Amino acid sequence: MQTLLRPGKLLRGSGRLARVGPRLAVAFLLVSALLPVIGLIAEREQRLAAAHDAQAEAQQLARVLAADIAADIDAGRRLDPVKIRAHLDQLRSQLGGDVEIVDLRRDSVAGTTPEGRARLGLDADGQISATLRDGLVRTVSRDGAGLPLKLVVVPIRTPADGIVGALLLDYTDLYDDVLSVGAHGRRLTLVAGLAGMTAALGLGWALSRGLVRDIRRLTQAATMFAEGDYDTRAQVKSHGELRELADALNVMAERIAHRRAVLVDLATTDPLTGLPNRRALRTGLDRELDHARRHVTPLSLILLDLDHFKAINDEHGHLGGDAVLRRVAEILKAQLRSTDLAARHGGEEFAVLLPDTPNDAAKRTAERVRAALSAAPIELHGRSVKVTASLGVVAYPEHGLTTEELVRRADAALYNAKRAGRDRVHGPPEC
Ligand code: GH3
Ligand code: MG
Ligand code: MG
Repeated sequence: MQTLLRPGKLLRGSGRLARVGPRLAVAFLLVSALLPVIGLIAEREQRLAAAHDAQAEAQQLARVLAADIAADIDAGRRLDPVKIRAHLDQLRSQLGGDVEIVDLRRDSVAGTTPEGRARLGLDADGQISATLRDGLVRTVSRDGAGLPLKLVVVPIRTPADGIVGALLLDYTDLYDDVLSVGAHGRRLTLVAGLAGMTAALGLGWALSRGLVRDIRRLTQAATMFAEGDYDTRAQVKSHGELRELADALNVMAERIAHRRAVLVDLATTDPLTGLPNRRALRTGLDRELDHARRHVTPLSLILLDLDHFKAINDEHGHLGGDAVLRRVAEILKAQLRSTDLAARHGGEEFAVLLPDTPNDAAKRTAERVRAALSAAPIELHGRSVKVTASLGVVAYPEHGLTTEELVRRADAALYNAKRAGRDRVHGPPEC
C-alpha cells in the first residue's frame, strides 16, 4: 500500500538552516554587518586624509620658514640666532607648535621649546641626521615624554653653501586640530553605519517574521485540507506570490469539497427514488444507535416490502414498476417526521429509521404508512394500481442492541407480516 506523506514530515526531515526563517536571518545579519564595516573603513580613510592634510600643511609652513631663514644667512654659512628668533616667534604664533633650528652638527641654534622639555633635536632614530645629509623633507612620529609627537624635518639650504642646518617643526597641535575638525563627521559615519545595521536588522526581522508566519499558515491550511477539513481557508497577510498560493489552495479546497459532496451524494442516494440508499441507512443506524446508547433513548426501525410486486411489474412493465416505486417513496415520506429517515433498502423494500422513538410509537407510524398505501391506489398512465405493503417493526433496546441484530429482527418481523397475510404491521417473533 502506498504511504501517504504528511506535510510536517517533509519539514522535520531537513536541517534547521533549510528553514526559511533562519536562512533569512543569516542573510540579513551578513548584509547588515557590512554597513558598520563600511562605516569603519570610511572613518579610517577620513582619518588618514586628515592626517595627510595636517602633514602637508606643516611641511608647507616649515619649507616657507626654512627658505626665509636661508635668505638671512650670510656668506659665512652662519645661522644667526637673533634673526632666526624673529622667524620662529612668527611661526609659533601661527602654528602653536614648537620649532627648533639645528646646525650641521645637530647643535641647537635657536628654538621655542620651553625649559625642562626634551629638545626636538634629539635624534634617536637618525632622521634629522639623514635630512642634514640628503636634504629630503621628513616627517617623524615620536613619543615625547609619553605623548605622541609629530615632527617635520626640513633642510635649510643656501644657494652658495647648500645644506647649512635643519628646521624641526612640532606640528602635533596642528595634527590634533585637523583631526578633531573631522572627528564629528567620522563619528557620524560610524553612527550612520551602526544605525543602518540596526535598521536593516529590524527590517529584515520584520520581513522574515511575516514571511515565515505566512508560510506556517499555508502549511497549517494544507495540513487541514489533507485531513479532510475543506472548510478551513488559507489566509496570509503578505501580498504577491504567497497570497496567490493561498488563493490557489483555497480554490483547490473548494473544488475538492464540491467533488466530494457530489461523490458522497452518488454513493449514498438511490437514483430512482432520491431516497438515501442502503449504505446511508446503515451509516444512519450506526450513528443513531450510538446516540441512543450514550443518551439512553429509544430508537425504532421499520422494514417495508411491497406485496406481490412481481405482479405489478408483470402487468405494467418494469418502467411502470419503477414509477410505482417512486410514488411509494413520496407517500412514505409524507407520513414521517422530519427527524425520521426513510431509505430504499433494496428492490421494492424500504426502511424507516425513527430516532428517539419507542416501539409503540413506531408501530403507530408503520400502521399509518400501511393505511396510506392501501387507501389510495396509485395512478399509472390513467390506470389505478392497488399497492399494499407488509411492515416489520423493531425497537432498541428491547429487540436488539446492534445494527445487525435490529435489521435481522426487523426482517423476521416483516416475514411474519407476509406470512400472516400481507398488508399488515408486525413485530418480531418472540425469541
Ligand atoms: P411478496 O413480496 O409479497 O412476497 O411478493 P413480491 O412479488 O413482491 O416478491 P419479491 O419481493 O420476491 O419480488 C420483488 C420484485 O421486485 C422482483 C423484482 O423484479 C422487482 N424489483 C426489484 N427491484 C426493482 C426495481 O428497481 N424496479 C422494478 N420495476 N422492479 C423491481
Ligand atoms: Mg422483496
Ligand atoms: Mg415484495
